[in-house]
Amino acid sequence: MCGELRAPDAGRRVTLAGWANARRDHGGLVFIDLRDHTGIVQLVVRPEHDPVAHDVRNEFVLQAEGEVVARATEAVNPNLSTGEVEVHVDTLRILSRSTPLPFQLDEENVDENLRLRYRWLDMRTPRMQRNLRLSHTAVTAIRRTMDDLGFVDVWTPSMTKGTPEGARDFLVPVRLQPGRFFALAQSPQLFKQLCMVGEIDRYYQIATCWRDEDLRADRQFEFRQLDLEMAFVEREDVLDVLERCVAASFEAVGREPPPVPFPRLQYADVMRRYGSDKPDLRFGLEIEDATEVTRASQFGVFANAPVVRYLVAPRAFSRADLARLEEIAKEWGAKGLAYLVNDGGEIRSPIAKFLSEQELAALAGEPGTTTLFAAADEATVARVLGGLRTHLGRELELADSDAQAFAWTLDFPLFERHEESEGWTFVHHPFTAPLPGDEHRIESDPASVVGQHYDLIWNGWELGSGSIRIHRADMQQAVFRVMGMGEEEQRAKFGFLLDALEMGAPPHGGFALGLDRFLAQLAGEPDIRQVIAFPKVASGSDPLTGAPTPMPDSVLRELGIASVAEPSEPQP
Ligand code: ASP
Repeated sequence: MCGELRAPDAGRRVTLAGWANARRDHGGLVFIDLRDHTGIVQLVVRPEHDPVAHDVRNEFVLQAEGEVVARATEAVNPNLSTGEVEVHVDTLRILSRSTPLPFQLDEENVDENLRLRYRWLDMRTPRMQRNLRLSHTAVTAIRRTMDDLGFVDVWTPSMTKGTPEGARDFLVPVRLQPGRFFALAQSPQLFKQLCMVGEIDRYYQIATCWRDEDLRADRQFEFRQLDLEMAFVEREDVLDVLERCVAASFEAVGREPPPVPFPRLQYADVMRRYGSDKPDLRFGLEIEDATEVTRASQFGVFANAPVVRYLVAPRAFSRADLARLEEIAKEWGAKGLAYLVNDGGEIRSPIAKFLSEQELAALAGEPGTTTLFAAADEATVARVLGGLRTHLGRELELADSDAQAFAWTLDFPLFERHEESEGWTFVHHPFTAPLPGDEHRIESDPASVVGQHYDLIWNGWELGSGSIRIHRADMQQAVFRVMGMGEEEQRAKFGFLLDALEMGAPPHGGFALGLDRFLAQLAGEPDIRQVIAFPKVASGSDPLTGAPTPMPDSVLRELGIASVAEPSEPQP
C-alpha cells in the first residue's frame, strides 16, 4: 500500500494503485503524490517513458509500477511516513479521470451540504476515513463481545406494526392491500421479547430503527442500535454486558477503557442535582436547594413558589450576559431569571433589597460568581436549571475535555402524566416492569411506581435505554389499563404479545445502545452525521440523491393512496 513503504523496502519492485493527491510537473520529471487510505508516497515519473504523466490531475486514479528508491538525505520528507523513499516509475497507467472538484480535500470548513452532496469525495478526507474505519473497528469488537457472551444474532422485520417508542412512525403503503400500512420499526422491541418466549435466551442485533422525529446533532430518521435481550436476568446482568461492550470498543480503537462498573445514579437524585436524566458529569455545577431558606422571604416570587433552587456559576456575569441567560431560562419554561452577582464582594441584583441578611449569606456565592435562581414547581425548576447548567457547561467550557464520564441512570418512574390528556403514559415504553414490590400499586397509585428502566449516559449524551420487562400478561394488561387502553384496544394492538406472555414467557430484560451516538463520541465528533456514511440533513433531505422526491399519481394510485400535499420545493 502507498503509505506502507519504508527505507528497508528500497530496491523492491512494487505495483501501487490510488489517487493522485498532488502533481508537480518539472517537464523532464513529474512528481506525483499517490494516495490510498494508508497514506501518501511520492512517485517519480519520466514523461519520456510515460507521457500520460503530463495529463495527470488531482484525484485521477492511477496504477504505477516501479522500483522503491531511497531518497538522498537532503530530499527526505520528515512529514511523510514514507518520506525516506520514493518510487521510480517505469509504467504509469491512468485508470480513471476526474473533473475539477467542487471542493479541495484539504480545504477546511467546507459547507456540510456540499460535503454531503459529494460525499464520495468527503469520504476520501482523513477525517471521514478515520471515522468510518474507527466505527468498523468498534462495531467488530462489539460483535465479537456479543458472540463471546453467547448472544445470537437474529434478524427481525423492519416492516411491522407500530412499536411504541414514543415517536411518530414512518408508514409503508402496501400495493397488495390498498388502504393498509406497515410501520417501519421504531425498534425491534416486541420481536426481541418474542425471541425470549421463543427460547433464544440471548438475542442481539445491530438493528436499523426508524423514527419520524426532528433531526438534530444526535438524531436521524434512521439510525442503528446495538439491540439486545436476555432471559433469566436481573438488571445488573444487562448493565454488565453493556459495560463489556464499551470497554471492548475502547480497547479496539487503542484507548484506555473507562473504569467499570460505571456509577449507578438514581433518577430522582440526578434530576434534583443536575435537572436532567442525562447530565454531563465532567463538571460539577450542581443545583442547590433554597426552598427552606426562602420560605418566609420578603421576595414574593420565592415565598410563593413550591420549590426554589439555584446554581452558582463561576463567573460574575454582566447585565448583557444575564439578559441572554434569562432568554435561555425562558425557553425552558421560566417566567424570569432572578440572580445575585457577587462582583468582588459587592452584590449586584435587583432582588437583593428584598432578601434578608440570612438569605443573602446563604445564597450569594464567592466573589466572582453568579447565583441563578429558578422558583416554580419541581419539574419546571429542574428543566430550567438543568437547561442553564448544560448551557453554562458549554459556554464556560467547564468540562474536562479528556474526561470520559459514563454513568447509569436507574429507577425512573414507570408512568408520567400525558401532556395533552389528563391520563398516564409510559416513561420508557409500556413493556417495562415495575420494581418488585411496586406492582400492586400499578393501578391504585401509578405516580408512585418505580420502573426497572435504566439509561446509559456518556458526557451528557443519552447513549441508550433498556429495562427489565413485564413477562406476565395480567401485569401487562394492568399497565395498558393505566394508559387508558380498554380490553378491545389491547387485543387489537398487542394481542400477539399478550398471547405470547400467556405461553411460557421467561423473565427477561434488555437494552438498546444508540450506535451512531456511541461512535460519534468515540470519534470525538460533535454530531452523528460524521460517523454515518450517507446521512440526512436537518430538513430531512438527502443532499446526495435529492430524496425525498414526489411520486407520480399513477404510482400512488397503485398503492391505494393520494397525496393531499402540494409537493414542497426541494430542501437543501
Ligand atoms: N426498545 C428500546 C429503545 O429502542 C430499548 C429497550 O428497551 O431495549 O429505546
